[in-house]
Amino acid sequence: MSGRTRIRACPERTCVGCRERAAKTELLRIVAVGGECVPDPRGTLPGRGAYVHPTPVCLDQAVRRRAFTRALRAPGALETKALRLYVERTTVAEQATR
Ligand SMILES: [Zn+2]
Repeated sequence: MSGRTRIRACPERTCVGCRERAAKTELLRIVAVGGECVPDPRGTLPGRGAYVHPTPVCLDQAVRRRAFTRALRAPGALETKALRLYVERTTVAEQATR
């Protein structure tokens, strides 16, 4: 037992779109399931995760540079249509509450 372990109250992750660091809670976790990018807002799905701001801008950047394929070590291109729809819906819902 040695001293105190520093627990970081707010773990950071890098957005694969804009490459900026942000609190994990501000980013959306993405996992690859059967060649498709699947949003994992609760962080419960197994496997490697990639993190992205849940905005169309960051998503587009990530898709353009195939950041998900790299981050998730996928053997080929990943389908992002469902993810895009999810992000668009989330963004709209957030804006409505402002
Ligand atoms: Zn971002």
